[in-house]
Amino acid sequence: MVAMKSSPMVYLKYLEQIWLNNISLFGPKRVEEKIMRKTKRVSPELTRRSFLAATAGAVAAGSLAGCASGNTVGEEGESVSLAGTAPQVAEEVYFSSCMGNCSGWGCPINVTVREGKAANLTRPDMKLPDGSPSPYQRICLKGYTNIERMYADTRLQYPLKRKGERGAGEWERISWDEAIAEITDTWKNLQGDFGPGAVGFLAGSGNVDSTVKTYADRLIACMGATVLHNCYDNTGVYCQYNHGALGATTTGGHNEYRDIVNAENIFVWGSNPSESFIVDYHFISEACEAGAKLVVIDPIFTTTAAKADLYVSIRPGTDGLLAAGIAQIAIRDGKIDVEHMRTKTVAPFLVKEDGFYLRLSDLGRAEAGSDQDRIMVYDGVQLAPFDEVEEPVLEGSFELEGFKVRPAYQILVDRFSAWTLDQISQYTDIPLDVIEEVASIYLSGRSMVLLGFGQDHYANGQTFYDGVFVLADITGQECKHGAGSTCVDLTGAVAQGVQSTAGMNLDGAVAGPTVYVNHLPQLVEEGSIGEFDTAPRSMYIYYCNPLANMPDRQRWLSMLDKMDLVVVSDMVMSETAEYADIVLPVAFPFEKSDLTFRQTGFVKLIDQAVETPFEVKSDFDVITLLGRAMGFEQYFTQTLEDFLSSCVDNEVAQEAGVTWDKLQSEHAVWSHPEEPSVIGLNAPILTATGRLEFYHEGIKPMMDVGQEWDMLKESCWFWEPPLEAWHENPLFERYPLTFISERCKYKTHTIFNNVPALLEIDPEPFVKMSPSDAASRDINTGDIVRLYNDRGHVVLKAVVSNGCRKGVLVIDHGWEERNFIEGHYGDLSSIASWPRFEQDNWFDCLCEMEKVQ
Ligand code: SF4
Repeated sequence: MVAMKSSPMVYLKYLEQIWLNNISLFGPKRVEEKIMRKTKRVSPELTRRSFLAATAGAVAAGSLAGCASGNTVGEEGESVSLAGTAPQVAEEVYFSSCMGNCSGWGCPINVTVREGKAANLTRPDMKLPDGSPSPYQRICLKGYTNIERMYADTRLQYPLKRKGERGAGEWERISWDEAIAEITDTWKNLQGDFGPGAVGFLAGSGNVDSTVKTYADRLIACMGATVLHNCYDNTGVYCQYNHGALGATTTGGHNEYRDIVNAENIFVWGSNPSESFIVDYHFISEACEAGAKLVVIDPIFTTTAAKADLYVSIRPGTDGLLAAGIAQIAIRDGKIDVEHMRTKTVAPFLVKEDGFYLRLSDLGRAEAGSDQDRIMVYDGVQLAPFDEVEEPVLEGSFELEGFKVRPAYQILVDRFSAWTLDQISQYTDIPLDVIEEVASIYLSGRSMVLLGFGQDHYANGQTFYDGVFVLADITGQECKHGAGSTCVDLTGAVAQGVQSTAGMNLDGAVAGPTVYVNHLPQLVEEGSIGEFDTAPRSMYIYYCNPLANMPDRQRWLSMLDKMDLVVVSDMVMSETAEYADIVLPVAFPFEKSDLTFRQTGFVKLIDQAVETPFEVKSDFDVITLLGRAMGFEQYFTQTLEDFLSSCVDNEVAQEAGVTWDKLQSEHAVWSHPEEPSVIGLNAPILTATGRLEFYHEGIKPMMDVGQEWDMLKESCWFWEPPLEAWHENPLFERYPLTFISERCKYKTHTIFNNVPALLEIDPEPFVKMSPSDAASRDINTGDIVRLYNDRGHVVLKAVVSNGCRKGVLVIDHGWEERNFIEGHYGDLSSIASWPRFEQDNWFDCLCEMEKVQ
């Protein structure tokens, strides 16, 4: 614990700067839009002036009580000297973290506590191993609102039990004893009557880190309950797993964020880092200031696009084709990197007609599955294990020792040949000369693709992620600094080490089946699908607000209606909590200790800065109560400290230099290499083959429910249109508009949804549309419009924007039903998914729009 004094005036000025800077980041057009909009259903009480005053109140309370500077705020912006009038009180600073669940995910924060209240948030002074300041210690404007969030009158205070109809908003206060008894009695009855899978646990990624989620995994295993797996971001993340870019290393993506500054060309493709990557955007700025070119590929002209050297507007759902187009140009122009393909990728590995690699065991020379059973390559003369041949061929079709085989690279080239550049231009709606220009930039030097999760909101999202990795594989844009790709950083190895503690001391207990929630409504409606024969009849929903954040909300609503018991633990009465039977109030990040692993290169032990208020409990305590009441006392005896220390008591954490002693003394322990981490350079490629895999041997559907499955097709890059949002879909005649969503800097999903200071700037949702789509429907900025399709509708305000592609409607993400005039954008979208990736295909959604008034 560090005693520290700070000036509230500096803090206020900083807040004001953030405020003004962020308004200016909109650009004039967006400012106009924001000013034009009026609050309709959400009524933030604070004006900008009152926000400053209110914030000053929180800070000034401390300053009046003992700020060294003796300054506080009187009228807005006016300093009032209080020197000599302030009594002194102790001030303590605790190391904590924002759990914003955005690109920063776990930005470190020092919480200054005065008289038991969090009074100020500042940036910790964290150092890299070489003593230089950590570049991962910024806090965005959302992070600075955490005090307001924590002390909001919307915080849940007591366990609540539904009185009236589901969703009617009628509650009675109950005690924790009553809540735990009612939940666990019901679960015991349901599991007794229908089997262990009758209870399902659904976790999201809000307000949480790996450790306590892991603790909940212990309860799930003890109960044999169904794991309800969310379906967000699966395509992007799993493609990176397949490619060796995530999960098995201490970083994520090919390259750590710090490495962006080494790129000569940066491709921001389907994300808007100036709003969604806000604490790390400085890496892009630094690279650009050093001369890097910035290319933005997106259907929306974003705030990042406004900074780009080249902005390319692309038809939604065709990004994978553009990647293939660039790859084709690289092949055509001899810009492929044969050596890289031979040594780092699966390109030379021979693939049999059945889709599996040719191995020594196929030739009777090794035992199948043994260490000796190596994959074969061919050098034009001899067929041999891959590590015995220096220059294996990459192209051709061969019949060798009775097997028809092709190198994996040849399969890729054959897939590309299905599309000419003219067709790619036509489908992507990008002129041929622009595709050539994009390719020439990409191939001109070290190019890094900044991957977001935009494309994985289409059912064909894997065609993009596979396409980007394939492109890097064949051109050698990886395994070196400043090239490749970067995406979420899960500080993988250590996080995996923590995950491994989930099953400890459970005497063999294992969780029930994993059900991807896209299939959950059907499973609940029909009682079984494929081999899944137990439908959950109760859900425990934690760190998650699925009604607001998952597609096909109407289907979710009718599914929840069929549940015997829905329990939601949350800090506020979220849209999902409103439909629960029992709501449990849980702690804010500053009210609990935890370990966090995310995105900053550090593993962090965060302090509990303030006491939990009212009858709020930490998630750890809630899971302990549930576990004990379910009869698993022996597995729920640890204190939180014992549990947290056990999470890093494993080889993986210790190899990364993370020990409990170090965490206790330093709070933040660096877990990456000293140099920016790069897969295949200073971080291992830990795929099954040890190589970057653009060919996926024996790939299976994520959840086998008997759907059609073509393993050969799915094993290597291909492109097919999205399932719904496509102009050749017959539905397009009735619903010619594609609805997509974008991130904005004021929300992460619904986490910051009800912060008055942020609502002041961004008070209600609106839909952006192109001038031509607006004109053809007689819509002007400020009109109220209805978006609709066969699944549902949403009513909200219209904004006509030149930054929108014709045929595309855009609503920023993170709103709840209460924020819209009617309906919800989740009512438009579908839960249909591609079998390879159970995915929230939010953007794979056609609709029509009409003016309401
Ligand atoms: S909201 Fe995200 S980026 Fe902002 S401070 Fe919190 S974790 Fe960091």
